[in-house]
Amino acid sequence: MNISRRSALVAGAATLAGCAPTAPDVSGGFAGASLARGHLLRGPREWPIPAVSRQADVVIAGAGIAGLAAARALRQRRVEDFVLLELEDTAGGNSRGGELKGIACPLGAHYLPVPGEGAREVQDLLEELGLRRRVNGRWQYDERHLCHAPQERLYYQGEWQEGLLPLAGAGASTLAQYVRFAREVEQARQGGAFQIPERARARLRAWDGETFAAWLERHELTDPQLRWYLDYCCRDDFGAGSATVAAWAGLHYFASRHGFHPPGAEGGEREALLTWPQGNGWLAQALAAPLGDRVRGGQVVLRIAEQAHGVEVDVLDARSQRVERWVAQRCIVALPAFVAARVVENAPSPLRALGARTRYAPWVVANLHLTSPLADAPGMPTAWDNVVYGSDSLGYVVATHQNLNPAPGPTVLTWYCAPGEAARADLLQQPWTYWRDRVIAELSVPHSDLRSRLTQVEVARYGHAMPIPVPGALSALPPPPDTPRLQYAHGDWAGYSIFEEAFTIGHRAGSR
Ligand SMILES: Cc1cc2nc3c(=O)[nH]c(=O)nc-3n(C[C@H](O)[C@H](O)[C@H](O)COP(=O)(O)OP(=O)(O)OC[C@H]3O[C@@H](n4cnc5c(N)ncnc54)[C@H](O)[C@@H]3O)c2cc1C
Repeated sequence: MNISRRSALVAGAATLAGCAPTAPDVSGGFAGASLARGHLLRGPREWPIPAVSRQADVVIAGAGIAGLAAARALRQRRVEDFVLLELEDTAGGNSRGGELKGIACPLGAHYLPVPGEGAREVQDLLEELGLRRRVNGRWQYDERHLCHAPQERLYYQGEWQEGLLPLAGAGASTLAQYVRFAREVEQARQGGAFQIPERARARLRAWDGETFAAWLERHELTDPQLRWYLDYCCRDDFGAGSATVAAWAGLHYFASRHGFHPPGAEGGEREALLTWPQGNGWLAQALAAPLGDRVRGGQVVLRIAEQAHGVEVDVLDARSQRVERWVAQRCIVALPAFVAARVVENAPSPLRALGARTRYAPWVVANLHLTSPLADAPGMPTAWDNVVYGSDSLGYVVATHQNLNPAPGPTVLTWYCAPGEAARADLLQQPWTYWRDRVIAELSVPHSDLRSRLTQVEVARYGHAMPIPVPGALSALPPPPDTPRLQYAHGDWAGYSIFEEAFTIGHRAGSR
């Protein structure tokens, strides 16, 4: 059966399961990023003359992971006179956490793989936070923060199986393709072009000229199960499928970490992940906590202008609706490139080009509050990450998975969906109930009792969540156009968005 046929079946089953249950008794609404605040910058608009002028040595515009990492690096260099100006009420950007009826849950990013040897800055952070330490000459991670088993499962052919690579009924030709893909990944790994954080970008250009799907075709890797799995991985990592992202991006997750392990291969144990009930919001909170009131939420940066005497940063205070001006010696622009290109006066051409060229993936994250854990289809028990084969979404993680209390009680599932660029308008136009009904329809297939346990759904929308690494984007990626007063720091400057890149870029900007 080909992928589209399977998708149609799952979608059909989902519609059947979901057609009755529009769910009027399930409360909820939108949560997370404020689209209205972000869209203040969309059209040309005259802002009032700033009513107040304030001063700091350094202004950091944007308190996502890159901005927070920059602040930490400043403090390491004993620069304490700085502020972070953040559009949302709290810091963290795509890595914020939230809670639903008192249960912590992610609003966006939810895990960090145990960093490899190249990610020195991230290792250093994890040591500082007490998550990683040397015991008898070996590095160990705090068990409480490593993802507990079982880690992943896939709903496939009416049962839950362990891991996300489809296995049930996999014939010899499917298994042979799994083995061949593993060999291709191994070959790509040789030579060290794939690293996290990316330090050898130029060497990835060899894989930047075609889509991952075209690369797979060329290598005669056409098995539907393998292709579904790899497409899923691309959507999960980049918010766009294998027919959209460049070949390097499709290989990157495997080739920059521990390779791809076909069933039964040596070293095939799951990669260790760090995760928390509130996802990477835990890391964001840990970074923000020592900064105190230097993190200023509800501040929409409208203009950043380099002047002879310093940098002027004009912000709209969302509560008072007053425009204020900060004057600083330096500014770290930790904003997405398309925002930075709008607010930086006389934006340098590399920034304008990156802002204009980058294609962003929209994302939707829905948190579902349940009175008790769901009953299950046969097979593998509930894992941290639970994916339905052939569905348009990316499945759900269980926010209470890391709890040490074995007594089952209320829980929260966090459902992820990268609906594609064409669906961006849906994020603006559709009511929250559209996403609620979509989640219910999809998850009612493996969980027929979902409706009876569901009490509340909170939907977070990200219109421009992360850059899509389309073919050619990496080759055209400029280095940040830093000047003595302006430094640029955001995951967009890596060409793809993960914690390690955002953190390292921010750390380096703060260190400069
Ligand atoms: C749904 C989702 C799931 C993800 N899952 C993972 C994961 O599991 N693991 C992982 O490693 N990565 C994940 N990511 C990638 C994530 O983007 C990065 O890990 C990281 O959080 C990016 O940080 P950043 O600082 O580069 O960007 P951002 O998070 O975009 O930070 C930019 C900040 O600037 C602020 N801002 C924007 N405009 C203005 C303005 N005009 N004025 C003031 N402030 C402004 C924003 O509000 C934001 O706080 C996920 C992303 C999404 C969207």
